Amino acid sequence: MHCLRRIDVFAAAVCVLGGAVWLLPGSSAFSTAGHTLGLNQRDVRLFNNFQDLSANDAIIEHPNWPGFTGAAVAIWKGAAEWGSLAHGDGTGDPTQPQVGSGGANFDATWQGYAPGVGSLTDNVISTFYASGGIVSMVEMVGATGWRIRFNEFYVWEDDPAGLGPGLDIQGLFTHEYGHALGLGHSTVNGSTMFSSVSGTGIASRSIEPDDIAGVQFLYGVAAATKPIITGVSVINSVLTVTGQNFAAQNNEVWFTRLYENPSGDPVVVSGLASTGGGSSIVLALPPDAGPGDVLVRVPGTSGAALSNAYPIDLPGCHASFVYCQAKLNSLGCTPSISGAGVPSASSGSGLVLSVSQVLNQVNGLFFYSTVGPAQSPFLGGLLCASPPLQRMGIGNSGGNPSAPASDCSGVFSADFNAWVASSGDPALVAGADVWVQHWSRDPGDPFTVSLSAAVTFALCP
Ligand SMILES: [Zn+2]
Repeated sequence: MHCLRRIDVFAAAVCVLGGAVWLLPGSSAFSTAGHTLGLNQRDVRLFNNFQDLSANDAIIEHPNWPGFTGAAVAIWKGAAEWGSLAHGDGTGDPTQPQVGSGGANFDATWQGYAPGVGSLTDNVISTFYASGGIVSMVEMVGATGWRIRFNEFYVWEDDPAGLGPGLDIQGLFTHEYGHALGLGHSTVNGSTMFSSVSGTGIASRSIEPDDIAGVQFLYGVAAATKPIITGVSVINSVLTVTGQNFAAQNNEVWFTRLYENPSGDPVVVSGLASTGGGSSIVLALPPDAGPGDVLVRVPGTSGAALSNAYPIDLPGCHASFVYCQAKLNSLGCTPSISGAGVPSASSGSGLVLSVSQVLNQVNGLFFYSTVGPAQSPFLGGLLCASPPLQRMGIGNSGGNPSAPASDCSGVFSADFNAWVASSGDPALVAGADVWVQHWSRDPGDPFTVSLSAAVTFALCP
């Protein structure tokens, strides 16, 4: 892996983060990378191309992290730990008493899923593959943005309790995001910004006094005038934001964008007045706001103008991403599954599932779960969806017509939105999570079966 402007190394020293080292009275030994992030660079998004099931198998939603599961929640928590105040009531991470420990004029806005890895300054997290060496890295950090990647060579873990042998997405992201917001490595062993981690990296989830001193040095201690959100409520699509220090006029309310966010920009409602001496803002929910965070911005451009990020639970949905692993077929091809289009409980068409690199002229079918993912041995490969399983209709792979099962020119496809409309499956309602895998015939395989990897998505209305 080529060393770009900033790169991070835990397992082997290849590149070292530069920047001045600040030795302050006491034992603080954080360092800075030479930049801070303005209010237009506070977005955090995930392109969820983690392949390990263990990276996306935490599927129980928590009220402080609404609408998301798996790696997304691990990333969200890692960013929120640097926030000015407890995120919601601060719970949801069994390894620390409170998420949200920065106490600075710094808060991130969680913007959910990105449609791709983005450019070096698009503030997107994703994975790459390099054989060994680098565990995770910041490819680029600066005032104009950043990009953070995790190495798929290693096994990654999303477990909120930090159980399991894989590296901890949340812990390592908390460290990498410290670089993004402007910190270098610390010389204090045990701080999140220390240059190495032991074990799976869980200890890095919780920022320590030296890290807190660092973010407060860069952004200032949370100002007494900084707006604070203490509660949100939604009744009939009218949102009431409760707190303090809201401006009399011209407040903005920021939302996480519904479905996926191509730009990173939050959904913003502007020009809002407050009542109750700056303690309440009432507004109509914008249609493109999804589950995630709400922030209030008062007039001004410094970090002190932006509130803490407060969780809000709204109906959600998300695009497809691939997980689990396909079985190599008898001709040495790896079936490739994908989903294209918006998953919808009502549209009747438009979410096309397809599997390529499968044998020609054989039968097969998609099957799915609405319960959860799985990764268990199954017919010489892996079962990637948790029973009970529902089968969709049988199709034929087509492709080269000359001789069945003679090459990998076959393709299966099916429109899942059409299946929702025709199947009558009562589980397929707006907001439902779906995990889909594909099975087909493979006469040359010991089990005579080919299995794809899997895709997961959540149905929009
Ligand atoms: Zn680092």
